[in-house]
Amino acid sequence: MADPRGFLKHGREGAERRPVEERVHDWNEVYPDGVGRALLPIISPQAGRCMDCGIPFCHQGCPLGNLIPEWNDLVWRDDWAGAIERLHATNNFPEFTGRLCPAPCETSCVLGINQDPVTIKNVEVSIIDRAWESNLVRPQPPEWLSGRTVAVVGSGPAGLAAAQQLTRAGHTVVVFERADQVGGLLRYGIPEFKMEKKHLDRRLDQMRREGTVFRTGVEVGRDLTAESLRDRFDAVVLAMGSTVPRDLQTEGRELDGLHQAMDFLPQANRAALGHPVLDQVSAEGLDVVIIGGGDTGADCLGTSTRQGAASITQLEIMPEPPGSRPAGQPWPTYPMTFKVSSAHEEAGDRVFGVNTKAFLGDEDGRVRALLLVDVEFKDGRPQEIEGTERELPAQLVLFAMGFTGPEKPGLVESLEVELDERGNVARDDTYASSVPGVFVAGDAGRGQSLIVWAIAEGRAAAAAVDTHLTGSTTLPAPIKPTERPLTV
Ligand SMILES: Cc1cc2nc3c(=O)[nH]c(=O)nc-3n(C[C@H](O)[C@H](O)[C@H](O)COP(=O)(O)OP(=O)(O)OC[C@H]3O[C@@H](n4cnc5c(N)ncnc54)[C@H](O)[C@@H]3O)c2cc1C
Ligand code: SF4
Repeated sequence: MADPRGFLKHGREGAERRPVEERVHDWNEVYPDGVGRALLPIISPQAGRCMDCGIPFCHQGCPLGNLIPEWNDLVWRDDWAGAIERLHATNNFPEFTGRLCPAPCETSCVLGINQDPVTIKNVEVSIIDRAWESNLVRPQPPEWLSGRTVAVVGSGPAGLAAAQQLTRAGHTVVVFERADQVGGLLRYGIPEFKMEKKHLDRRLDQMRREGTVFRTGVEVGRDLTAESLRDRFDAVVLAMGSTVPRDLQTEGRELDGLHQAMDFLPQANRAALGHPVLDQVSAEGLDVVIIGGGDTGADCLGTSTRQGAASITQLEIMPEPPGSRPAGQPWPTYPMTFKVSSAHEEAGDRVFGVNTKAFLGDEDGRVRALLLVDVEFKDGRPQEIEGTERELPAQLVLFAMGFTGPEKPGLVESLEVELDERGNVARDDTYASSVPGVFVAGDAGRGQSLIVWAIAEGRAAAAAVDTHLTGSTTLPAPIKPTERPLTV
């Protein structure tokens, strides 16, 4: 156990973000010098708050089954080499989850029953950032090659996790990515202020040194047929994400100035890194309205702030969630509470319980306002509240209402894989699709989800592919597609 009296001596403490007035003028991460370094002075006593519970509920909360009490103890004992070894045992990319995960482990931490939970996510990012700085993260190329080949379609966290596991197991792995750079949503969805791309690039360098091959600018199903992929490779992993955005087909939808978040964020990410962007949609000087109250919406908010929007309003049809755990969502479940991201600290108004009835345009066909109405939920359906209609000025509207599944034309249709009732690629308990030798991991099979799930599924699918190719496996399989940890 870490410090037996740690949770009695120390309260929960996290890293301080940079002042708002400083950070809104750049695209760097919101923590000074990187979060791992910012945490170093406080992280040992924070890890020492862990009680090394007989039943560590934090494990059940984490789709990866991270060995949390073990690395809390090692950090408290100043054994950083031991800590990164235990952390990497279950998670290929803790620098991504340590920055970006909503940390369901923390909402299921036993200490959270009557105190603030252990800062598990902060301990995680401290371990991996320190490991990189101390040269403890090195390539692990396989000792022998199996002679078997695997194609991974899509280079988001699911594809990367599957590729790293299978490369290390000795298979020859090629990752195909239609974008010009590797990383999926880590590259072009998630803004620099949440995770600087240098963390992704450093990990990709490790993967290349281990032997994983990346082919960018190749859309499988168009530039390379599904048939030739199956002919050329012994197994295929589909990890192409959930990329079809939900739309709001209401009056005025055809007006100029209405964009999907994923038409806005990738351009903004490119521009932030100084890459050329043609016809960039910019929020500069505009009244921006973001429809959708989740992560994607918050990323549009932080991006619009940095681009110099005149005003920003984020709309959410659901009522405002409570500030603390509601009675119906007791520990250790993941509660739906009011969340304040770094972007919310910086700017913008949030309006809950509101629906958009129409987009109103000017004589040039550009959006000038939204016609809003307040709603209340009755029998699970939103009902308009009479007399609450009003206009909200907007010259830029961003849709951030989630995604409905993988794209069907192209690869999915030509492979003729079966889909589940939600339109995702169907798979059995071994991540196998209906087409022999073709496996599915991440958002393409699960639907829009989280990075931690994508990594967990990529790892588990790799174990299934290894078994398919060799008859057995020593790769760990953290979770089955149908299994759900306690909290998510
Ligand atoms: C804006 C935004 C912010 C988010 N923020 C967070 C966050 O803070 N924390 C969190 O946990 N989760 C977050 N998420 C969710 C998280 O990013 C996803 O759950 C995760 O990236 C899914 O990983 P994946 O590997 O399944 O797919 P993706 O990351 O979507 O990667 C799929 C890749 O496949 C490629 N591809 C698709 N079709 C083909 C083809 N035919 N040929 C070749 N390549 C193809 C795509 O170009 C893409 O690069 C966010 C999502 C969005 C949209
Ligand atoms: S539940 Fe919390 S206190 Fe218990 S072992 Fe996990 S991190 Fe430590």
